[in-house]
Amino acid sequence: MRIIDTHTHIYDAAFDADRDAVVRRAREAGVGQVLLPNEDSGSYAAMRATQAAYPDFCRVMLGVHPTSVNEQWRREMEFFDDHIGDPGWTAVGEIGLDLYWDKSFLPQQKQVFEHQLAAAVEKGLPVSIHSREAFAETIASLRRFDAGRLRGVIHAFSGGAEQAREYSRLGDFYFGIGGVSTYKNARFVEQLPMVGLDRIVLETDAPYLTPVPMRGHRNEPAYLVHVAGRLAQVFGLDAETVAETTSQNAEKLFF
Ligand SMILES: [Zn+2]
Repeated sequence: MRIIDTHTHIYDAAFDADRDAVVRRAREAGVGQVLLPNEDSGSYAAMRATQAAYPDFCRVMLGVHPTSVNEQWRREMEFFDDHIGDPGWTAVGEIGLDLYWDKSFLPQQKQVFEHQLAAAVEKGLPVSIHSREAFAETIASLRRFDAGRLRGVIHAFSGGAEQAREYSRLGDFYFGIGGVSTYKNARFVEQLPMVGLDRIVLETDAPYLTPVPMRGHRNEPAYLVHVAGRLAQVFGLDAETVAETTSQNAEKLFF
């Protein structure tokens, strides 16, 4: 089995005690590459250190996460501007809009999101989009750009086929599927065949969103085999085919 984890935070302090073992288990499970999304200037050093420790395993993104848009938002945008010209970025992420935790910075969230979308378009980089309880607002921001130049992944996608179609009209978008797909109440999973396996990439969002049967524990890239297994059921394929197809999708988009 060959798997790419397109969205994981293994630089997080939750992995400080046993990161070597986490990477070893991932490789043993077939996860040969992971993509690390940045959150803000505070996560940058840990992300870079993890990349340096496992240079053939990790690729990195640069971005300001929407929940990091607060009173310091201008400083965060300057930090992004100072580093986006550096070589080696796989994508701009994770960026987007989050109205679940805090709505008070919505205008600033939009400004930071669109600033980073513009940078991605200018650099020809894909984006990793975090959109939580902000579908209409996210669509409105994407609409301001040329659909022929926007490409990326809708991270932690849990919308139906209609939402996927709306995103796809606005750019070359893939949909990131992780542990949530294994939860009993995840009705969106039934619509994934309409989205198409050729549009899906796998992701853990570790340490969060652990798939069944490991739910309740810290998530880690090795557990993606459970997500591949769930999608294999949904698509009527074997897990190897799901892993291989989604890895090829990730390579097309990011490599
Ligand atoms: Zn994330």
